[in-house]
Amino acid sequence: MNQLICRKCKAIYSLDDPRWKCDCDSILDIEFEPVFDLEKIKKRKPTMWRYREAIPIQNDANIISFDEGVTPLIEVDFDGKPILIKQDHLFPTGSFKDRGASILVSKAKELGVKEVVEDSSGNAGAAISAYCAKAGIDCNIFVPEDTAAGKIAQIQLYGAKLNKVPGTREDTANVVLKAAEKVYYASHSWNPFFFQGTKTFAFEVCEQLGWKSPDTIILPVGSGSLLLGAYIGFNELLDVGIIDKIPKIIAVQSENCAPLYWAFRGNLEEVPPIKTKETFAEGIAIADPIRGNQIVEAVRKTKGNVIVVKDNEIKKALKEICKKGYYIEPTSAATIAGIKKHLQKSNPDEVIVSVFTGHGLKTTEKMLKLLNEGSV
Ligand SMILES: *Cc1c(COP(=O)(O)O)cnc(C)c1O
Ligand SMILES: [Zn+2]
Repeated sequence: MNQLICRKCKAIYSLDDPRWKCDCDSILDIEFEPVFDLEKIKKRKPTMWRYREAIPIQNDANIISFDEGVTPLIEVDFDGKPILIKQDHLFPTGSFKDRGASILVSKAKELGVKEVVEDSSGNAGAAISAYCAKAGIDCNIFVPEDTAAGKIAQIQLYGAKLNKVPGTREDTANVVLKAAEKVYYASHSWNPFFFQGTKTFAFEVCEQLGWKSPDTIILPVGSGSLLLGAYIGFNELLDVGIIDKIPKIIAVQSENCAPLYWAFRGNLEEVPPIKTKETFAEGIAIADPIRGNQIVEAVRKTKGNVIVVKDNEIKKALKEICKKGYYIEPTSAATIAGIKKHLQKSNPDEVIVSVFTGHGLKTTEKMLKLLNEGSV
């Protein structure tokens, strides 16, 4: 029963078919029966590969890893309430995207892929580039022209070929689709193997809580690579009886680009086309998320919520979190603003887990600009 399945027409393909979408052009999901041996897991190295039997890579020889994962889950106080924060900004390339990249690039190696393409606002591109460098796979990354200099340097120094695309994030996505007609698409939104990596977020959180599920998780969302991965992970643990509930998922979007919010709030079946404005949290500014309907469905199923935050709230939240000694990038600070909003109506004993998704050192120009703007 381990296979790729189309979300729309239910066509089935082998996990060894090097494809990233269905013949009907729809997205694919992975059906896979994970195995968790808690005694074995406990004895292994503290990396995300400790859940080895829950990861659909056949041969250990194909694993591409920097011993990433098992990031600290640390208590941070917000307005008098302790929130557990997963420090995923401490990954080797500085963002949680390494979770997905490690498994996706391992799978690419298993498939004998020699070259990949990927589009990104920076962090996914950096992650795929680093893992391809280790795997010896040629890597082509497409980014919007205005991508942060730190991320652009990172991608190129890992040895990937960088293609800057003028225009919007959507223009970049369209250019890469053309390239992906000929080359394997290591996409963090299309390729279902990426989510087999980000699902380890849920495994780690539950293990760190003594194999218990939190009540609520608060996550930033653009194309949903972390949110959908976490949703898969919690469901897998529930299915085998390790946890007894799925946490409520609170998704945070920037008000200036919030298609999922409008779909959720309007109770719509399809994510609507929206008008967007530039946002301080550029990493979650995805106007037309490929898996949008799937994300909204996941949030609904957990009785969760989609909340939006304004640019000035994000800036304020970033300054506040830095003053506590944590250096995260602007996109990641949208989540902090979301936490503060959620706390206005949370209940006192709710166990809440959230995340630092990306490191502040990647976005020095923006951090300097924020500093020079003075008080916000
Ligand atoms: C990619 C990214 C996000 C959002 O992830 P999506 O897959 O677009 O939902 C959030 N924060 C940072 C730092 C990121 O790199
Ligand atoms: Zn199909």
